[in-house]
Amino acid sequence: MEQPHQKKVPHVLIFPLPAQGHINSMLKLAQLLCLAEFHVTFLNSHHNHDRLLKCTDLGSEVAHWPGFRFATISDGLPPEHPRSADFLIDCIDSLKANTKPLFREMLISYCRSDDPITCIIADGIMTFTIDVADELAIPIIAFRTISACSFWSYFCIPKLIQAGELPFKDDADMEHAITCVPGMENVLRRCDLPSFCRAKQLTDPFLQIVQSETLNSVRASALILNTFEDLEGPTLSQIRAHFPTTYTIGPLHSLLKTRLTDSTESTHKDSSSSSLWKEDRTCITWLDSQPSDSVLYVSFGSFAVVTRFELLEFWHGLVNSQTRFLWVIRPDLVNGKGDMGHIPSELLEATNERGCLVEWAPQQEVLTHHAVGGFLTHSGWNSTLESVFAGVPMICWPFFADQQINSRFVGHVWRVGLDMKDRCDRRTVEMLVREMMYENVELRKRAAKMADLAKKCVSRGGSSYMNMERLIEDIRGMSL
Ligand code: UDP
Repeated sequence: MEQPHQKKVPHVLIFPLPAQGHINSMLKLAQLLCLAEFHVTFLNSHHNHDRLLKCTDLGSEVAHWPGFRFATISDGLPPEHPRSADFLIDCIDSLKANTKPLFREMLISYCRSDDPITCIIADGIMTFTIDVADELAIPIIAFRTISACSFWSYFCIPKLIQAGELPFKDDADMEHAITCVPGMENVLRRCDLPSFCRAKQLTDPFLQIVQSETLNSVRASALILNTFEDLEGPTLSQIRAHFPTTYTIGPLHSLLKTRLTDSTESTHKDSSSSSLWKEDRTCITWLDSQPSDSVLYVSFGSFAVVTRFELLEFWHGLVNSQTRFLWVIRPDLVNGKGDMGHIPSELLEATNERGCLVEWAPQQEVLTHHAVGGFLTHSGWNSTLESVFAGVPMICWPFFADQQINSRFVGHVWRVGLDMKDRCDRRTVEMLVREMMYENVELRKRAAKMADLAKKCVSRGGSSYMNMERLIEDIRGMSL
């Protein structure tokens, strides 16, 4: 029988948007909470869970994590649905319409079990979870997997509309300064605003969803961001005026590593891969034989697609720069299909000499490999943080959503990379690769400094380390 003052073990349910970048960071948080001896249920879509089990050892690895379990739920889409960037709105709509009632049923059955949910940590882009949590009186914390700077710019969309900045006119000068996002007066130009701000109509579904979900997330009891104070302090002050309890606990992948090193429990293992594609480790063998800082790593994340024209411009630019390169070409990178078409023989020959192509790489390991000296990235937030942590300077070619603003901060505010926004020609690629890899020593120095700050934040006593402690204590408080 339970003793009157015996503490209950908190049980946290973590529910990410079913997408690679969201799963990666939220799974790290799940593991951190397990280290604190919580029970954690990680809720995946059936579709992504099948992919995870096919591509990783996660199923058997997490068996070593006491208190951890996966649960799955339907995303409401048919199996053959592409679930790609073009269909993100479909996914979010389907989650709201089809997954929400299933989620409610699931929570009710947990409420009736002997291990009820103490707290939900749900992806902040799925605020239907707040409706359900409120109805069932379960505390809920919103986790936004994007940068603080993008989150804040999303939050300020009503201000942009009020100031007449949105929608852009047809002949809008994309260099025009945007001055109505508090704290970013001297930073943003039109072209740096999130991609959906380029919509012709304010009724655009992407613009509408991101705006309403972001404004709605204030209804959660707190906000978690995968960032760190030394990187985004000024923006975080703006956010905290609206979200007083904001836990910054990033970079999560390195906070988990630190905590695991601290932990005396040998059973805890970092499930290093949560990839929805099978990692090709031959690229690590290839990197092992390359000189230090000589390789440019090229990857556009899990959603971005390129046209065949863009593929060839990148390829020519890389080859003309004479740099060694490791390039992730996902099976669906080109126009969302597998067909790259004819590749000129001079490109294939140069790639054989000094390049390596894979369909998916163990990216965190790649970025910390001594041979990697630069990253040509689409500026997804996980990729950006992983690069910042590894001290690797970036060339940013943002594709969509938050990436436009991340690339501006990388290039203009943190100055650890070069922003190639909206350009894609072989001359620019070649020029920027040369500048980053061989000429701009300051860029490399600043990237190293920022990496030191990131390491301090996740070390014992650092801001992310302490915020994680606070989050753990606050959730413990909910189970008393
Ligand atoms: N990633 C990886 N291998 C690859 C490419 C990407 O492991 O070959 C991981 C990367 O480390 C990051 C995630 O996929 O954690 C991509 O997330 P990000 O936020 O950068 O971009 P998104 O895919 O959401 O556009």
